[in-house]
Amino acid sequence: MPPVPDASSAKLSWKRVLLKLSGEALMGDKGFGIDNKVIDRLAGEIDQAVKLGAEVGVVVGGGNFVRGARLAAGGTNRVAGDHMGMLATVMNCLALHDALARRGLPARVLSAVAVPAICETFTQRAALEYMAQGHVVLFAGGTGNPFFTTDSGAALRAAEMGCDALLKGTNVDGIYSADPRLEPDAVRYDRITHQEVLARGLAVMDAAAIALARDNAIPVIVFSIQEEGEFIEVLQGGGRATVVAD
Ligand code: UDP
Repeated sequence: MPPVPDASSAKLSWKRVLLKLSGEALMGDKGFGIDNKVIDRLAGEIDQAVKLGAEVGVVVGGGNFVRGARLAAGGTNRVAGDHMGMLATVMNCLALHDALARRGLPARVLSAVAVPAICETFTQRAALEYMAQGHVVLFAGGTGNPFFTTDSGAALRAAEMGCDALLKGTNVDGIYSADPRLEPDAVRYDRITHQEVLARGLAVMDAAAIALARDNAIPVIVFSIQEEGEFIEVLQGGGRATVVAD
């Protein structure tokens, strides 16, 4: 783990950020579920970000367990599948919360889907209060509605929380004109507008998420969460990433 830089000398490009982690980011090489080593590393990076003075909200996906659309393709009712997907995001948030708690970092799980025996239900007021108190806020349940994704949930929470940027941690180091794993000639963008992402149909986030970020002037920074320390680099204005901004 890299040393924690002196907070007083740290320069952050964005103070309040919404970090979007896909469910797949939590599973490491396992192919399914949660890899404890990976979640501990991610918790460590969030801890560093907080020590640098960042206010961090996290939206975690659920694709390491369930995706409603995939279940529907196999015959499951789509809404039931999406409900399962949203519950998967609750499980991932509980795992990340546990890893943060073991580091002594104050954090709260707020779920858009009410599971009161397990975590609090999301309200904007509670989320803003926790963040103002220095808690990391983990947003579970996506938007709380079927037919949406956690990318849309991330854009929604970023807007509600007044975040300065939405940092999307993916498996690649930015946005490409095509999947670089399939097309070696794919062009990588350093900077692109929300509108261009939509017009070119670039598959970085779903259109609803990009449009919501555009309409609320929220920059989206796409970087590889697989690279250790990259979240901190990006937070400090460095690293390798694509910036989506107008
Ligand atoms: N989901 C949903 N509504 C939401 C967010 C998520 O129904 O607002 C369901 C949907 O089935 C989705 C699954 O939860 O496939 C997991 O979320 P997502 O696919 O966004 O996870 P990720 O790809 O980020 O791991």
